[in-house]
Amino acid sequence: PEILNTFKQDYDISDVSFKTWIKPLQVKSFEDNVVTLVYQGETEMLGLQYIKKKYQIPLKVTIEEIMKMELELQFVLPSDIKDEPSETEEHITINESASLTSRIAEANLNSKYTFDTFVVGSNNILAHDTSLAVAESPGGIYNPLFIYGGVGLGKTHLMQSIGHFVLNKNPNAKVLYTTSESFTNELIETLRNKSGNQQEMSDFRAKYRNVDVLLIDDIQFLQKKESTQEEFFHTFQYLYMHKKAIVISSDRKPKDLEGLEDRLVNRFESGLTVDIQSPNYETRMAILKKKVEVEGIDIPNDVLDYISTNVIFNIRELEGSLTKIIAFSKISNQTIDLDFAKDVLKDYISPEEDNTITCKKIIEVVADHFGISPNDLASKKRSKEIAYARQVCMYICKTLTDETNKKIGLALHKDNPSTVIYGVNQIKEEMARDINTKNMVEVIIKKLNTK
Ligand code: ADP
Ligand code: MG
Repeated sequence: PEILNTFKQDYDISDVSFKTWIKPLQVKSFEDNVVTLVYQGETEMLGLQYIKKKYQIPLKVTIEEIMKMELELQFVLPSDIKDEPSETEEHITINESASLTSRIAEANLNSKYTFDTFVVGSNNILAHDTSLAVAESPGGIYNPLFIYGGVGLGKTHLMQSIGHFVLNKNPNAKVLYTTSESFTNELIETLRNKSGNQQEMSDFRAKYRNVDVLLIDDIQFLQKKESTQEEFFHTFQYLYMHKKAIVISSDRKPKDLEGLEDRLVNRFESGLTVDIQSPNYETRMAILKKKVEVEGIDIPNDVLDYISTNVIFNIRELEGSLTKIIAFSKISNQTIDLDFAKDVLKDYISPEEDNTITCKKIIEVVADHFGISPNDLASKKRSKEIAYARQVCMYICKTLTDETNKKIGLALHKDNPSTVIYGVNQIKEEMARDINTKNMVEVIIKKLNTK
């Protein structure tokens, strides 16, 4: 590695070229002034020829400088050296699991995120089942799979689970997890380096096209990035035509991705789109219990209940609360009970004494009721569901608080008070017409009062 790094710096080789061509080289042997390098890259013979043509002389010079002697370089493929008798069966298994580990790392996967650790609830069962189906037959079913939902609800966890599943079944499958942000940055980096642009560009393309499963997270980052969208479109088309699996995640559905080319939105919608909602109480409890089980710690049920009841929108925060309690109990050497938990989480969970109903609280409860995030509810987003939930929110704020239309509007990021008047009237009328709406509003108010 030292040789390779010196070489990279001396010859100013780009990251992409380095990763594709140089990094897969390993010194196999060094005998009688002959250095044998094995090329373990994907492209085998073709790659080897390319390396010989382009890098043989510079590599020779670098190695000679480091070794301070004249040498001859020889390049081989792993298959050229397989016939050595030294490998026992045991070695092979060790190598296999080592190779699975390295495949997982190459694919950018975090070993925490597997189907085994994912708790299935009514909020995510569809996303879970379709992800599993894609993992079982990548590219053959639901292509692309588009998963959307609010932050911290398990999108990344699910996507990575697909990657693990595929690699476990077939360690030779080519899986690549990335975020659309990394994709963008890498593209910018490639385009920035004017020299050798052509080569780097084809390396970049090869990296994203030479895969069986492409997992691309948080696609909303591509909004308004025209040239990245252009490049991604071609990547998408290439993979799609070759029946390679594409899984995409986003914080909103394809239609709501503003500043994204229509052709991309259309492609995203052409497969299967599934959402993940906020988990309900039971699922929150199950997630906490799973985590406790994994950590091997005993935590009283009323503590878990306290967390599940109060941390409702975001699984990352749900887990975070638990982690905090565990950490504090270790540090302070105190046993975990309800009072201890309340104390640790006092900044996290609003104190229960505070029973006044505010617009903020109403937003939280209404959002929970509709399974959307409070941020989405209080935003300019105009999807039908969200707009409707927002009107319900306006009605309840108007009914239960003394706030003016203007203040209610501001809490919901609507600067025009007449929007509030309109929303309140819509719900009022609907309640008069439809008993279901009336019941729904009552249920929400009940939830507010017991909170
Ligand atoms: P997102 O990508 O949607 O923002 P993540 O996948 O990063 O969310 O999930 C946030 C955290 O919550 C992660 O630690 C993840 O393991 C955990 N998590 C989310 N959903 C579940 C679930 N259904 N079961 C277990 N853990 C989950
Ligand atoms: Mg994520």
